[in-house]
Amino acid sequence: MNKVSLKKIKEILSMPLNDLIFKAQTVHKSSFPKLDIQLASLLSIKTGSCPEDCKYCPQSAHYNVDLKKEKLINIELVEQAAIRAKKNGADRFCMGAAWKKLNNGKDLDLIIKMIKAVKSLDLEACVTLGSITKEQALTLKEAGLDAYNHNIDTSPEFYKEIISTRSFDERLETIQNVQEAGISVCSGGIIGMGESWHDRAKMLEVLANLTPQPESIPINSLVPVRGTPLENRDKVDSLEMVRIIASTRIIAPNSRIRLSAGRKDLSKEAQLLCFVVGANSIFYGDTLLTTENNDMLNDKDLIAQYNNHHKDILNSKGL
Ligand code: SF4
Repeated sequence: MNKVSLKKIKEILSMPLNDLIFKAQTVHKSSFPKLDIQLASLLSIKTGSCPEDCKYCPQSAHYNVDLKKEKLINIELVEQAAIRAKKNGADRFCMGAAWKKLNNGKDLDLIIKMIKAVKSLDLEACVTLGSITKEQALTLKEAGLDAYNHNIDTSPEFYKEIISTRSFDERLETIQNVQEAGISVCSGGIIGMGESWHDRAKMLEVLANLTPQPESIPINSLVPVRGTPLENRDKVDSLEMVRIIASTRIIAPNSRIRLSAGRKDLSKEAQLLCFVVGANSIFYGDTLLTTENNDMLNDKDLIAQYNNHHKDILNSKGL
């Protein structure tokens, strides 16, 4: 029996925005009293030529996209990027490889070295490498890995419309392998691929009923990329993002909710509203694997405005 029912999720998703914002903020302040925002830096360690056919993804080998492909990069490049991320104030360093699955041998060996290099800088290490086995998950855990990203993307039913080269159940299998190895799960989805509100609710139902719930839940809005089958989809309305993030906060009170791809298209005010209703992690850096991300200085300014007293007002005097 599911802990959080579909009916309940639909009730939350459909609340008047005013009530939804209030409820989500109440849950958020009680679960994360410091209201801190985690800064995650993301590096693509192997880019493009992916055998999967995810319709939203410029890295798929199935589509003709203008993208600079790259083989697995060397350890020095990872170290340099991690040092830069640390200097810029990142908490977590995420590495993504466009693979169907992780291969044992030289790929796995290099990934282990990369994780160790990131951990030696006192950064949290997260990777996303496609499907992994139980044994591989245990090996990554031993190397010091904190989190593994494996998004479910959408509802089990709509998944088939978006990806044909793997099944939703295979996704869940890797998530289970990661959980059993004692690694935190980072898993979320994408809004704006043509899914219905029913699909969105079903996606949240799957995430909410993972045991334990994911440590982080990235909520992405589709960035339509020319050459991919979803290139002509409309951008997601910012208040739909707010509604989904607020609902996710209520049903997964202790997860870090990451406002991820598509953030660049949100106004400062829309991003702040997402923080207010429970988003408390962002990807921080100029690129997001292959699409453009927000400017780091603007991000620092935005977070300061969200969290700090306004010193000019505090110190202001009358004439
Ligand atoms: S989303 Fe990941 S698995 Fe799918 S095509 Fe892109 S890189 Fe490959």
